[in-house]
Amino acid sequence: MRVGTQPLSTFGNVSRSVKARWGAESKKASIEYYDRTGVVAFAGEQIPYKGNHFDLDPTYKNPVGDPLLRMTINWQDNERKMVDFMNAKMIEISHTMGAKDVNPFPGYFDYDVTRYQSTHIQGGTMMAKSPDLGVVNTNTQHWDISNLFVLGASTFPNSGSSNPTPTILALTYRTAEAIVEKYLKKPGMLA
Ligand SMILES: Cc1cc2nc3c(=O)[nH]c(=O)nc-3n(C[C@H](O)[C@H](O)[C@H](O)COP(=O)(O)OP(=O)(O)OC[C@H]3O[C@@H](n4cnc5c(N)ncnc54)[C@H](O)[C@@H]3O)c2cc1C
Repeated sequence: MRVGTQPLSTFGNVSRSVKARWGAESKKASIEYYDRTGVVAFAGEQIPYKGNHFDLDPTYKNPVGDPLLRMTINWQDNERKMVDFMNAKMIEISHTMGAKDVNPFPGYFDYDVTRYQSTHIQGGTMMAKSPDLGVVNTNTQHWDISNLFVLGASTFPNSGSSNPTPTILALTYRTAEAIVEKYLKKPGMLA
């Protein structure tokens, strides 16, 4: 994926040879490099590991006293190796495109919300083939509450590499069909 030039986010992207982070030299270099930098990025898949989960935080609460949602997640070998592999490819692509100076991605450490990962939030009420593995069935029907159908990216068990919206729409159509064709005729668990 090639991200274009943007007024604010691209400003300040300069060669590593520029040491100044503020002041006249930094400003001059930022203007010079403004339309001379680019980003090469890729989107990869994260596998749905058993250890990754949400639960209610035992410590932190919202202003009305309800517990906040706690997220437990980390990268595993699959993601780290995928990043290392793609990092080398992206450096190669950049040089082939004529880049004079390449700032490589430093690699994955532990999961860190302060570092941009994606705006594709998925999971939380994940789909699974049995109630012990997830929250909804393949018709996005809640395993414990048969008249509750959950639509949206929360039913994804993992973050695939592609944009999620077409799959959300496809699952919504499938749920609508299941409700009309099966559930309304015979209310109860569909799977
Ligand atoms: C900046 C950005 C760029 C993106 N670009 C793309 C893209 O190019 N392609 C792509 O496929 N995806 C993109 N996405 C991801 C995509 O927008 C989401 O995957 C998608 O919107 C998820 O749909 P959803 O229905 O699961 O959740 P949402 O669209 O977030 O809908 C959830 C709704 O629930 C409401 N809600 C929350 N809590 C409550 C409550 N207690 N009571 C009542 N209502 C509540 C919210 O107000 C919201 O309207 C992007 C996301 C962002 C943030």
